[in-house]
Amino acid sequence: MKVLVINCGSSSLKYQLIDSDTEKVLAKGLCERIGIDGRLVYQKAGLDKEKYDYAMPTHKEAIGYVLKALTNDKTGAISDLKEIDAIGHRVVHGGEKFSKSTIITDDVIKTIEEVSELAPLHNPANLIGINVCKELMPGVPNVAVFDTAFHQTMPPKAYLYGLPYDYYKKYGVRRYGFHGTSHSFVSKETAKFLGLDINNSKIIVCHLGNGASISAVENGKCVDTSMGMTPLDGLVMGTRSGAIDPAIIEFIAHKENLTLDEVTEILNKKSGVFGLSNGLSSDFRDLDDAATHGNELAKEALEVFSYRVLKTVGGYVAVMNGVDAIAFTAGIGENDPGVRAEVIKNLGYLGIELDEEANKVRGESALISTPDSKVKVCVIPTNEELAICRDTVALLK
Ligand code: AMP
Repeated sequence: MKVLVINCGSSSLKYQLIDSDTEKVLAKGLCERIGIDGRLVYQKAGLDKEKYDYAMPTHKEAIGYVLKALTNDKTGAISDLKEIDAIGHRVVHGGEKFSKSTIITDDVIKTIEEVSELAPLHNPANLIGINVCKELMPGVPNVAVFDTAFHQTMPPKAYLYGLPYDYYKKYGVRRYGFHGTSHSFVSKETAKFLGLDINNSKIIVCHLGNGASISAVENGKCVDTSMGMTPLDGLVMGTRSGAIDPAIIEFIAHKENLTLDEVTEILNKKSGVFGLSNGLSSDFRDLDDAATHGNELAKEALEVFSYRVLKTVGGYVAVMNGVDAIAFTAGIGENDPGVRAEVIKNLGYLGIELDEEANKVRGESALISTPDSKVKVCVIPTNEELAICRDTVALLK
């Protein structure tokens, strides 16, 4: 099958056309600045990137240009839109309604709309993508793959906050967790890579990218994760604060004469390692470089980041009463040996030994613990698009 994977953001759209039989990407790219002016990036497998400035007042024009690029005479990956067998959509929030990927029907769309208040920046954009695909490719099945679904197996003790119970019942205030597609994919790939039986395993997945989260996966099911009702909770991230003392919000609002919305914006966009480094950068390549050249704030920001990862990993070892494997994934997890070493160095009490030579790896699957290490530590690249493609095909077979 040929599956078009669509990931709609508020002003952007990423896409991949994947042949599910070979799992090869036939073409991929993105649309940026939707609603501002518009730019299409398109790349057929094996060829150079093509860039076009096209007017994209809405996602409809953007998807229209993607379909045109996919079928263009010279570099199109397919000759006719009829070759697209299915479309897989990333949907950020499924609330408690979706614990699995699902074929999109009118009822499913209604339910995604209902949970949109839990992800007001993301779900509306995801819905636009779904509706435009239905309009432009009538008859082609659409599948929704939710960021939250994998975490729906968490028990109440992991997902309830210490708040009046009514807020959970009335408004759905609880931990949902995100990056679920990645945590699910990487936990399965880790088991495969290490030859573990996923149904009899304890795996901690550290998804460390610009957004970062960790999950505890026992016997293939998520039992806890670090992001919360929103993706602001948990780890210190590129620009997000992660978990803080909730009283800080009111304190800062008073001190700086800011509204709640303004403080929330700061927690999302001006905090994390970016805020800690005094606005130097949210990119770990810049911070690593600055730290190497003696920048103390960059060094401290990196320490804060790794320390929070370490504490969360340690907590999840306790949660599962043990761990067989720890997997690092996403931009930082796959590419930053320094962060991995900093986290692993304090886990010696578990019998973990890092193989420093192996830990130099970037961007590919590798075992980075020594053969004697009691717990296996590895790098496993994530691939959310492939995971969406696999779920789409599984549902339609
Ligand atoms: P992601 O959100 O998974 O795409 O991750 C993006 C982040 O990965 C960037 O902001 C960088 O902080 C980090 N990253 C990417 N490449 C490297 C690298 N070679 N070394 C360190 N960090 C990297």
